[in-house]
Amino acid sequence: MDTGEVQKYLSSLNLPQYRQKQIIKNYFSGRYLSFLEMTDLPKDLRLDLEKNFSLLSVSESKLVTDTDTQKSLLTLKDNLAIESVLMDYGDWLTACLSSQVGCPLNCAFCATGKMGFKRNLTAEEMLDQILYWNHKIFPKYIGRLVFMGMGEPFLNWDNLLATLKIIKENLNIGSRKISISTAGLIPKIYEFTDLNTEINLAISLHAPDQETRQKIMPITLKYQFTDLIKSLNYYTAHTRRQLFLEYALIDDINDSQDHLNKLINLLKSNRLFYLNLIPLNPVKGGLNPSSNLNLFADTLEKNHLNFSLRRSLGQSSNSACGQLIVGN
Ligand code: SF4
Repeated sequence: MDTGEVQKYLSSLNLPQYRQKQIIKNYFSGRYLSFLEMTDLPKDLRLDLEKNFSLLSVSESKLVTDTDTQKSLLTLKDNLAIESVLMDYGDWLTACLSSQVGCPLNCAFCATGKMGFKRNLTAEEMLDQILYWNHKIFPKYIGRLVFMGMGEPFLNWDNLLATLKIIKENLNIGSRKISISTAGLIPKIYEFTDLNTEINLAISLHAPDQETRQKIMPITLKYQFTDLIKSLNYYTAHTRRQLFLEYALIDDINDSQDHLNKLINLLKSNRLFYLNLIPLNPVKGGLNPSSNLNLFADTLEKNHLNFSLRRSLGQSSNSACGQLIVGN
């Protein structure tokens, strides 16, 4: 909900301060989907608030579950829809949040890109994905957040920063438990670095050179590979923090010996670069996963490089990275 609007309304009713605080606290607790469920409020007030506001700006239209993930199709107030994913890594629960309806960047391996771009999500819509999941898993709660769902978060910069501020002030999720993934908007990488937060940064790299990357990520035509690496070195030099490079291995695209050699050189060039090697998640009509995954992993291991072979959750429910799409 828009807490500012609701607070203004509550003030106009001359409700005591403690009531206002109680309602805001209830909202952030993630225990409620509607005001009607807040039985610690007088009934008239519950009915009045429900008539005038929606507690959450997202509502579940469909839920798909498999062993370790849940994917929800969430409808927004203007009837557009997004997907949001909950991943169970055993020790912690992670919510993968969408930042846009669709995405304008059209990466070749990504289902979201095929939807085109509809609009940015508001801070409220990003936040409410977390509260929606907290309600679903109560009394457990989301321990980690990744902005890796639909959309490019750095293209929704102002709302992203507003969301992070609200999370910091109202939810018990520390900055180090939050990761933002970008396809490589270089000016925003510099701006993000200068913010000096402890939020993790991940780059959808997916290729170790300009030529390969521009085939699968059109953004590379605007932001050149060498300039991207320069911005990543700026990030690690200023933050002294590890930087995560995502690399989905795609058959006959980025999986040759030459690609592997270039990747090794890149990782050796900066010991704060950490590679997440990912099996490509198949997308209808899309590219194919490479069979060289083990060869890449073994060679990186022999070279004592920082990497992990990432377990990809949610493939069977189409909720893994690059598989989120609405209207399919
Ligand atoms: S991978 Fe990310 S940046 Fe690329 S099209 Fe998909 S959502 Fe957009």
